[in-house]
Amino acid sequence: MITNVPTSDDYYTSGKELLNFAWDATASLLVEFGQAGYYGFEPADIEEMSDAYWAAAKRTLTTALTVVQQAVELIIKGRIVEISPYLLISDIPARWPSPYDSTDPIDFEDFRTIDAQDLIRVHDTFAQKAFNAEFTNKFNELRKIRNVVMHSVGKKVSVTVAEVVDSALFMHKALFPAESWFTIRREFLRRAPDSELGASEFATNNTCHEATIVKDLLQPAQIQAYLGVDKKQHSFVCPACLDDANTDGGFEYRLAVLRPKGSGTTELYCPVCNGIHIVRRQPCEDKNCPSTVISEESCRCLLCTTYQRGVDDPA
Ligand SMILES: [Zn+2]
Ligand SMILES: [Zn+2]
Repeated sequence: MITNVPTSDDYYTSGKELLNFAWDATASLLVEFGQAGYYGFEPADIEEMSDAYWAAAKRTLTTALTVVQQAVELIIKGRIVEISPYLLISDIPARWPSPYDSTDPIDFEDFRTIDAQDLIRVHDTFAQKAFNAEFTNKFNELRKIRNVVMHSVGKKVSVTVAEVVDSALFMHKALFPAESWFTIRREFLRRAPDSELGASEFATNNTCHEATIVKDLLQPAQIQAYLGVDKKQHSFVCPACLDDANTDGGFEYRLAVLRPKGSGTTELYCPVCNGIHIVRRQPCEDKNCPSTVISEESCRCLLCTTYQRGVDDPA
């Protein structure tokens, strides 16, 4: 008999924790870099400072990428466990822990488990649907980089911050297509150690800030794939995020888009809550505001955020 058999959720939770660890390190660099103006840099000087900044961040970025890889390995193990946890056991039976040494059950952790290089093959052999070629290539690429970073001083490896962000978002989307990374990220921020100090109040603000930076950083095709929004489409404030945020210092993050595009559309999608919000299409009461998108939930214009007095509160 075997005890401590892991569940797929155990692996998914651990994998997402590692993804968040890598994300946290990378996002902190981006947020800090975005404050260059606050540190007294003129826009013309930021470009000059940029090379030195990202050169100093090299170790953090390569390490973050190796952590993304470890996260993906754990999540693939979770996928294999959904089929059977015993597929993770490697070695021939003669090398397994003996069932005759003791009457206690054998701890699952006493078995040697399969190597990372075999994970995809084991998954694809037994799963209903194999991983696609794009995922497998990306996984193998990441593994190569990880091996160089872990087993050498990594002089030949150089990754950009956009590559790290892209890898984390690509892997999360490929493995959890129904989720939005930013919803998961906000949950992590709500439960982070500094939430004990009251920081969770800013979880939505900080998540929206990160999503805004990522939207600027990545290409339209990546934003469409990972955030589910068109980078070039007009975007609006999400009524639920606005409601949830700390608005003492204002809240102007516009990440939500009409779905589908068009003047008759009454549904707004937000990649941070990963949800649809119903809007009323009528001109904002502020004559200087061009918006025709008013929240049904809060009766606020979702461009300038002013309350609409002429609209009856549906509640
Ligand atoms: Zn939202
Ligand atoms: Zn308005």
